[in-house]
Amino acid sequence: MAVIRFRALEQVFSRKPMHITPPSDKISDYFAVNVFDRAKMQKYLSKDAFEHVMEAIDRGTPIDRKMADIVATGMKAWAMERGVTHYTHWFQPLTGGTAEKHDAFICQDRNGGVVEIFSGEALVQQEPDASSFPSGGIRNTFEARGYTAWDPSSPAFIIEKTLSIPTIFISYTGDALDHKTPLLKALNAVDKAATEVCRMFDKDVKKVQANLGWEQEYFLVDEALYYARPDLALTGRTLMGHASAKDQQLDDHYFGSVPERVSAFMHDLEFEAYKLGIPVKTRHNEVAPNQYEIAPIFEECNLAVDHNVLIMDLMKKISRHHGFRVLFHEKPFKGINGSGKHNNWSLSTDTGIILHKPGKNPRSNLQFLTFVVNTIKAVYDYQDLLRASIASASNAHRLGANEAPPAILSCFLGSEVSAMLDQLEEQVSSKKMSPDEKTALKLDIGRIPEILLDNTDRNRTSPFAFTGNRFEFRAVGSSSNPAAPMTVLNTAVAAELIEFNKEVNALIKKGIKKDEAIFQVLRKYIIASRPIRFEGDNYSEKWIQEAEKRGLTNITDVPEALSGYISEKSKDLFLKLGIFSERELEARVEVLYEQYTLKIQIEARVLGDLSINHVVPTAVKYQSILLENVIQLKELYGDSYAEFSGNRTELIKEISHHITEIKSKVNNMVDARKVANKIQDSKEKAIAYSKTVAPLLDLIRYHIDKLELVVDDEIWPLPKFRELLFIS
Ligand code: ADP
Ligand code: MG
Repeated sequence: MAVIRFRALEQVFSRKPMHITPPSDKISDYFAVNVFDRAKMQKYLSKDAFEHVMEAIDRGTPIDRKMADIVATGMKAWAMERGVTHYTHWFQPLTGGTAEKHDAFICQDRNGGVVEIFSGEALVQQEPDASSFPSGGIRNTFEARGYTAWDPSSPAFIIEKTLSIPTIFISYTGDALDHKTPLLKALNAVDKAATEVCRMFDKDVKKVQANLGWEQEYFLVDEALYYARPDLALTGRTLMGHASAKDQQLDDHYFGSVPERVSAFMHDLEFEAYKLGIPVKTRHNEVAPNQYEIAPIFEECNLAVDHNVLIMDLMKKISRHHGFRVLFHEKPFKGINGSGKHNNWSLSTDTGIILHKPGKNPRSNLQFLTFVVNTIKAVYDYQDLLRASIASASNAHRLGANEAPPAILSCFLGSEVSAMLDQLEEQVSSKKMSPDEKTALKLDIGRIPEILLDNTDRNRTSPFAFTGNRFEFRAVGSSSNPAAPMTVLNTAVAAELIEFNKEVNALIKKGIKKDEAIFQVLRKYIIASRPIRFEGDNYSEKWIQEAEKRGLTNITDVPEALSGYISEKSKDLFLKLGIFSERELEARVEVLYEQYTLKIQIEARVLGDLSINHVVPTAVKYQSILLENVIQLKELYGDSYAEFSGNRTELIKEISHHITEIKSKVNNMVDARKVANKIQDSKEKAIAYSKTVAPLLDLIRYHIDKLELVVDDEIWPLPKFRELLFIS
């Protein structure tokens, strides 16, 4: 029987690209056809109901049952015209991914038949049995009920024949069990706080929204090769595999032409995304071979998060139609670039101003600086919390490693904005400014060029970079739900803005003019947050030392990083702004520790199995061939056989050495797991996994990768990096 690897390769060679023809050449013809958006609401709802829902979306007002009935009936009418038979509440549990439970529209009628009914009650609330979702101990199985509740700010959509209604997911006792609940609270908090601050500059501002434009990186691997690699299939990454002789060193993949099969996948994906109203705009090859990126036009943050998790689901589904598997893991292949999900974030007003974009005059630029400075201060004050929001077992391979290293948080601003902040710091002193000084400063502020937008210098090593009209949180992992970092960032910025507003008003009360009060508080914040500003190379050894001098924290260990969620400072922040209760927060971290432990546990088991069942037997087989050869040489040449067999005997020894090491280290790993599994406390257990189990994964791999280099290619059972990365 042929080695499984070769059978997989044969399958790959026989694949043909599949071609998809959209119903029209114009995207605008079918964009959002499967979304119950404003235009459709207007058509399918009474004027009264439509206005009611708009109020709810724009102002967060509650929707009463009567209105909900009308909306549900309109939704059902629209959906049934599109062939829909079922509906589901669609939510984002803490497991990652999305969850749904479908119900048919039918109810029994009096004659024993059925009729299609969709009530306001069914739209607004469902009670899924939630006992199998992680809750961090909030929910006991005897009160397993959870509630999903409609989020009208994200429109319902159709997938296949099911109407999907975005919802939050909470426990029987009202505690958040999902990603959306705290995100909505954080967005509300930043809206309120930022609107107050905007009104210092413009009384017409009534609402501020947070925007998110995510850039989703991913790998594609042929499905046959994927299945021939149990580590990929079970953990999402390769736990072994020697580097390919050629990978990304020539930089010939980045922005290269997209292979035909991949291009067919992308077209198919985009077509499905457009029908769901996801405004995907950019696609390109990434740095590593078989690595790609997709990015939409930015949207309101809650909607953007829904669209990101939705597109990840679509990508999983559609890649399979093309014989691919999509990898969202942050580091599927050791030694080459991993994947991130840059979160481009900004605030904007209902008057159409992006607050993180330089303006056209001194006044709007002062507003711009206000928001930039408050954002920087938020990153400084809540660096540990921001790190916690992106820490996970899979992002650990970027955490501390050289990829947008979030182990140390810092902010890159670019020379223009940096210089402006320096100047503000120098010129404004706590004494009253002379009129000349004021004019000079205003002139300078007015000079921040609008052009900045296009020519901001980039710093690709920065975890949190200003890029002209937004900040880019680059530490977020490709597999994560962006709701978590967005919840933290928006909450932190809200807290700073509240404080800023208070301090400015206190100075005004003391008789200081408004602009000068703003200048003075800004100056104070610029000085306070100076340590977080860094324009240099975040990957350099020097930065680690420099950051330490500046008192910035540097945490590479995941459980330790996760603890940032429950420091006194973080608790204060979340409680003060009503984002999480203490119980919710502790439960959430509990879930995160548990998930970390389980992920490492699975990796350890898979690597143990592969080592003992695949690698060691193959190495032994090859060693026997070598031994046979030496014996034959001895038979032929007698005592002088050594002249001919020198390197073979060396190789036999080398193989023995690696086999012995693998076996003993696998045993050590099993023992370490046994010890760790006895620990009750979930944080302590996660730490034990991180300190005693995880390091063995790399040590074992080292010996496996050495064997891969020497064992006969003909009998090596697992697809190699050069095949996983270059054949599609
Ligand atoms: P790059 O790779 O150069 O960072 P991309 O064009 O790939 O840029 O992605 C940038 C993302 O940032 C897009 O989703 C884009 O819509 C988004 N974006 C642009 N301006 C803003 C903004 N003011 N606020 C939030 N996101 C933005
Ligand atoms: Mg970017």
